[in-house]
Amino acid sequence: MANYKTCFDCGNELFADDIAIYRKLVDRNADEFLCIDCLAERFGCTREDVEKLIAHYRESGVCTLFR
Ligand SMILES: [Zn+2]
Repeated sequence: MANYKTCFDCGNELFADDIAIYRKLVDRNADEFLCIDCLAERFGCTREDVEKLIAHYRESGVCTLFR
């Protein structure tokens, strides 16, 4: 079942950015998502790295997921 509200790993509340970056990095057609912390852990990077990536995509304005 689609879950747009909570991280499917830790259960934390999801925000629009969490969903957008997950779609961008993992699966564009996903209907369940990881929070930024769990996503960072999965990729072996830090939360800051993920947030920088989000900022990058938003500023570049080329990705339709970040509007
Ligand atoms: Zn999580």
